[in-house]
Amino acid sequence: MTLIDSDPDTGLAPLQFAVTKNLNAKTTAQRDEILQSPGFGTNFTDHMVDICWSVNGGWHRPRVQPYGPLSLDPAAAVLHYGQEIFEGIKAYRHADGSVHTFRPDQNGRRLQRSARRLALPELPVSYFIQSLRELIAVDGAWVPTGADQSLYFRPFMFAKEAFLGVRPAHKVAYYVIASPAGAYFKGGVKPVSIWLSEDYSRAGKGGTGAAKTGGNYAASLLPQSEAYENECDQVVFLDQDRNVEELGGMNVVFVYKDGTLVTPESPSILEGITRDSILQLAKDRGHKVEGRSVSLDEWRRGVASGDIVEVFACGTAAVVTPIGELKGRDFFDEQPIGELALSLREELTDIQYGRREDKHGWLVRLDG
Ligand SMILES: *Cc1c(COP(=O)(O)O)cnc(C)c1O
Repeated sequence: MTLIDSDPDTGLAPLQFAVTKNLNAKTTAQRDEILQSPGFGTNFTDHMVDICWSVNGGWHRPRVQPYGPLSLDPAAAVLHYGQEIFEGIKAYRHADGSVHTFRPDQNGRRLQRSARRLALPELPVSYFIQSLRELIAVDGAWVPTGADQSLYFRPFMFAKEAFLGVRPAHKVAYYVIASPAGAYFKGGVKPVSIWLSEDYSRAGKGGTGAAKTGGNYAASLLPQSEAYENECDQVVFLDQDRNVEELGGMNVVFVYKDGTLVTPESPSILEGITRDSILQLAKDRGHKVEGRSVSLDEWRRGVASGDIVEVFACGTAAVVTPIGELKGRDFFDEQPIGELALSLREELTDIQYGRREDKHGWLVRLDG
């Protein structure tokens, strides 16, 4: 059990987690072999966090238990109606061995906003942060030490009540699993090619676009296959007025030649914490930053005229990725490549890995 201060907003006391150790945990040698080349999302640590919620009992039965399959009733609502949300956040190992995460209060609040939209219960932010600490307390050795490596946490919540009626579930589960992650780009960051999805959108007005929910990803898979068929890495989605929204799981930022950074803003775009942090770092350097609509037309004309000098995507998994090409059914636009995206990426990762002063107080230590 880890002691943390009570929640400053609500005065909640920390939960008392019951810890069951995994008797079949990987050996040090097995773990070291995985951490040599962790990949992304394929290997998992020895334990997971599990907290239950019910209408009558609220949040209860907080546990750390061996990682393993879940047992679900086949009528569990999530399997039928997709009432599910998730988060993605990393732990970074610093040179002195300590383990830190980045702006977890922001992920905790976003999980609450997603919960509200999906009619799920809101997990207190202090419980969210505590759940990461509890997992690190047992699986801290899984935070890799190599360059650009991290431990990726996947917190998620879903409707587990066995009931086929259509209404918000009365029983919900919250879990955190963790997966060691290697450098996203082997051999250095390289620009990605983007397919413009014209037939499909990922979100609509009043829909769930701003929530981190599985359904948005399910809707993005067919257009993503279309991207692969057209030899592109990722898809970009437009809204009903042909304004740029975002990629399947990353936000988009345009750099103008006067140094202004512009990012599409709309109620159907997911508010990325990487994007917010990158834009803050750009502001600190004196760049102007704007959130507003950007039409496909403005993008294409801006690139053609030289007004737009760089376009990049950002998100926790790949951090910052320059966009090198935009391809549509009947056009192909090479994108200008600049230095700003990579320099902001370096500044952000320097902060996350403790190589540069954390002026905004974004890091939160998870171990010890
Ligand atoms: C998670 C996510 C992002 C990126 O958010 P970060 O907080 O930066 O990781 C962007 N778009 C979508 C659709 C996402 O699900």
